Amino acid sequence: MSLVQTSASDPPCSASLSLFDSSPVYRMACQQLATVASILHLDPNIVSRLMVPKRSLVVAVPIRRDTGETHTFIGFRVQHSLTSGASKGGLRYSPAVDLGEVAALSMWMSWKCGIMNLPFGGAKGGIACDPATLSRGELERLTRRYTEEVLSIIGPRVDVMAPDMGTDEQTMAWIYDTYSMKVGYACPEIVTGKPVELGGCVGRREATGRGVVFCIQEAFDELGIRPHEATAVVQGFGNVGSVVCQELQQRGVKVVAVGDRYGSIYNEQGIDIATLQKFVAAGNFLKDFPEAQRIPDDQLLTTPCTVLVPAALERVITATNAGKLRCRILAEAANGPTTPEADAILNQTDIYVIPDVLCNAGGVTVSYFEWVQDLQQFMWSEAQVNEKLRELMLKAFRQVRALAKNKNLPNRLAALSLGVQKVAIEKQKRGLFP
Ligand code: NAD
Repeated sequence: MSLVQTSASDPPCSASLSLFDSSPVYRMACQQLATVASILHLDPNIVSRLMVPKRSLVVAVPIRRDTGETHTFIGFRVQHSLTSGASKGGLRYSPAVDLGEVAALSMWMSWKCGIMNLPFGGAKGGIACDPATLSRGELERLTRRYTEEVLSIIGPRVDVMAPDMGTDEQTMAWIYDTYSMKVGYACPEIVTGKPVELGGCVGRREATGRGVVFCIQEAFDELGIRPHEATAVVQGFGNVGSVVCQELQQRGVKVVAVGDRYGSIYNEQGIDIATLQKFVAAGNFLKDFPEAQRIPDDQLLTTPCTVLVPAALERVITATNAGKLRCRILAEAANGPTTPEADAILNQTDIYVIPDVLCNAGGVTVSYFEWVQDLQQFMWSEAQVNEKLRELMLKAFRQVRALAKNKNLPNRLAALSLGVQKVAIEKQKRGLFP
C-alpha cells in the first residue's frame, strides 16, 4: 500500500515511501493526514511537507550487559515539525519500536500540540528493546548512551523528551544528568516528566490519566451519564491506565475489567483500584489479583461497559473487533489504538469516540508547564497545575466538539483538523526557506 494522495497532482513523497512506508502505523498517520487535508482543502505543497518528518536519526546504542558481553540496540529520534517551536515528544522502550512507528507518533504529537495550542512541534524517540529484561544498571547505560548518540539534535530550544511506554521519571533523570554533564551546567529544561526533586512538575506523572478523565467527564455530561451508574474497562495498567482507573473510581465509576501485557481480569462488582495498585507494586502480576477472575485477553476490549479506555498499544481496535465493542464511549488514552478500518466501522455506530490526539493530550500539556517552570526557575503548586490542565483540556475538548457539530464531522476528524490546520497555517506564514 502506498501513501494516500491528497490530489491527483500531489504524488507521494519518495523519501517517505522508501524510509517509513513499510510501517502500518506510519501509513495510518499519513492516511489520516490525507483525509484531513482534503476536508480542509490544504495546499498540496504544504501537505507534502507535513507527510514527511523534518528530521530522523537512527543510532546504534551499544551497551555492556551485566554478563560482560556487549549488546547493540537500535535507537530512533524523529522530529516531525520544528515550525511551531522546539519539538516535543516521548521516548519509548519497546521491542516493537521501529522508524515508521516513531515517525507516526511524532506526527500525532504535532497535531496534539496544535490542538492544545502549545508552542511545540511533534517528536518521538524510541529504542527497540524489552525493558523488562534489562537490569537497572543496563537501563541506565542504555539511556545515557542513547542520549549521547542523539545529543546533536536535542536541546531545550530544539527537542525536549518525556516518558512514554517503558520509560519513566528515572529515565528522564538520567537524560537530564547526561545532557548537563555534556553542556557543563544543570539543564533541567532538556526533559520533562523528571522527578520533582530535579525540577519536575508536580502532577506530571498523573497528568495524562487526569486529562483522559476530564474528557470522559465532559462526554458523560453531554450524554447525560451519571458516573455512579457507569462502568469502565481499561487496557494497560501503567502510568496512564492506572491513573485513569484511580481517577474514574474516585468519581464513582465502577472499573469492571483491567488488562496488561500479561493478562486480563474481571469483576462485575468493580475492582478496587487502590488494592490492585498495591498488589502490582508488590511485584505481583495483575492477572493473579485474587479479587477478580481471569478473562481471555481478546475478551477485554469487547467486555460490555459504559467507557472503554485503551491505554497500552496502538492498533488494538481493528476491523476484526470494532463491530464487537460494547461501550458507549471510547476514550483513546493510548496513541493510535484504532485503525482507520476500525474507525470507519465505529463511525457507523453510536459509540462516542474521544480521539487520542485530544484524549491523552494532558501529558504534553503538563510537560509544557514543566518546561515553562524550568525555563523561568519558578515552580507552581499542584493545585495551579491541575486547574490550568483542566482549563486547557476543556477548552480543547469544547473546540473539537463545536467543530464536529458545525461541520458534521466525527470527533477524530474534527480534532485532527484543528491540529493540522494550526501547523499548516504556521508553515504557510513562515514560507519556504530559502
Ligand atoms: P507504561 O509503560 O507505563 O504502561 C503500558 C501498559 O500497557 C502496561 O501496563 C503494559 O503491561 C501494558 N501493555 C503492554 N503491552 C500490552 C498488550 N499487548 N496488551 C495489553 N496491555 C499491554 O506506558 P504509559 O506511559 O502508560 O503509556 C501507555 C499509552 O499511553 C501509550 O500508547 C503511550 O504512547 C500513551 N501516552 C502516554 C503518555 C504519558 O504521559 N506516559 C502521554 C500520552 C500518551
